[in-house]
Amino acid sequence: MWEYAPAPESRDIANLKPNYRMFSDGQFVEGTGEPLKTVNPATEEVLAEVSTASTADVDKAVKAARRAYDRVWSKMPGTERAKYIYRIARLIQERSRELAVLESLDNGKPIKESRDVDVPTAAAHFFYHAGWADKLSYAGYGPDPRPLGVAGQVIPWNFPLLMAAWKIAPALACGNTVVLKPAETTPLTALVLAEIIQQADLPPGVVNIIPGAGDVGASLVEHPDVNKVAFTGSTDVGKIIQRELAGTRKKLTLELGGKAANVVFDDAPLDQAVEGIVNGIFFNQGHVCCAGSRLLVQESVADELLEKLRVRVSTLRVGDPLDKNTDVGAINSREQLTKIQELVESGEGEGASRWTSSCPLPDKGFFFAPTVFSNVSQAMRIAREEIFGPVLSVLTFRTPDEAVAKANNTPYGLSAGVWTEKGSRILWMAQRMRAGVVWSNTFNRFDPTAPFGGYQESGFGREGGRTGLEAYLDV
Ligand code: NAD
Repeated sequence: MWEYAPAPESRDIANLKPNYRMFSDGQFVEGTGEPLKTVNPATEEVLAEVSTASTADVDKAVKAARRAYDRVWSKMPGTERAKYIYRIARLIQERSRELAVLESLDNGKPIKESRDVDVPTAAAHFFYHAGWADKLSYAGYGPDPRPLGVAGQVIPWNFPLLMAAWKIAPALACGNTVVLKPAETTPLTALVLAEIIQQADLPPGVVNIIPGAGDVGASLVEHPDVNKVAFTGSTDVGKIIQRELAGTRKKLTLELGGKAANVVFDDAPLDQAVEGIVNGIFFNQGHVCCAGSRLLVQESVADELLEKLRVRVSTLRVGDPLDKNTDVGAINSREQLTKIQELVESGEGEGASRWTSSCPLPDKGFFFAPTVFSNVSQAMRIAREEIFGPVLSVLTFRTPDEAVAKANNTPYGLSAGVWTEKGSRILWMAQRMRAGVVWSNTFNRFDPTAPFGGYQESGFGREGGRTGLEAYLDV
């Protein structure tokens, strides 16, 4: 008789350990901060205990990064640095299944997104930047562009592995060393990336990954031996960091919140636009800084588009992030779920019309059904504030001028979308909308070759592309 081996549990695929230690000076060590428990938002079960850094551990990690910078990494020829970075990229590919499952367990995002977007795009960032490491001298930066030193990097929970890749890859390519702090609710894939960095044999101290809460982030960015701070997170914390760093000589880039307009003109192919709108706001449960959270639709097609949108959104499956058929996974934390609920209540209270998909939700875990608000006015909180959840606010416009005025009526300026058959109108709109990224007839497309970043309260500096390198070089 054949005996079939049991199918591996997702936890086994994720290679999940009961305890994770921090990565400092090339070693996994016990942090001396209060350990944190990271929770699976789809089940509310504890996934693992993670050791965190104290102020003394932050200091040790920064000193290790400084030694590695002075002695090895900044002196290494770009061709050699490139070999290490390529190795990291290949190891991410080799461990992609494990990383995808772990990301979905820790963050709550659907496995089809972690598998097809987060992990491959993270590998792509390392491949792309490895290609730059030996070409910086020829890129018009002068014969000897200099790295900045030690980079202190702080990232959020919505794309835990991908944000780590966005931060670490360009820093290493340019010859900087790194101390990175992942978000407190999603530290696991960054710690697997640390294993990969060890496997790739990077010299000790070149990359250090130290989990912890906001106080650890604060000690890192304030550390006097950090030369460059790269922060991705909320606008409120970005402002605190900007104030803290005023008067220092540290270089700073801030990638902050957003409230993107996705603008649909009456000549747009509406079925295609519906797909872009759905992807724009329901991808990653709407936990996306550049989410198309404000739909601006031309009045003449508003009713037709809204009807098509409701039909399409009704088909979205909300549930188990590890199910390949799931479209919308779990909200990352109870705190975030409460914030979404509170803003949705404010929308109802202020008189917008709420429509919520009637899809069934799991009994346990943090879930929120896709929601669309119509009859939204610009003054309402749901039109002004970042909800960071699966909630779309629909407004209408009559003329292109009105579309631009409404799109720009926000303190943010990270991204925008335009849907129209007219190429000239796309360019006209793109020139007038204050947004770092404008997508035309698509949304949420990420590519390491393209600079990404915002205006106004969405921050400053760019990540990705040639422009992104300038954040890590003295040119
Ligand atoms: P957050 O600002 O609360 O936390 C981000 C990170 O900062 C976490 O690691 C946190 O521990 C740390 N932190 C908190 N206080 C700190 C302090 N005083 N000093 C230093 N570090 C501190 O943001 P979040 O809730 O984790 O993430 C969601 C936000 O991130 C949203 O506003 C979203 O738009 C933004 N975001 C922006 C981009 C972008 O590229 N512009 C990308 C992803 C997310």
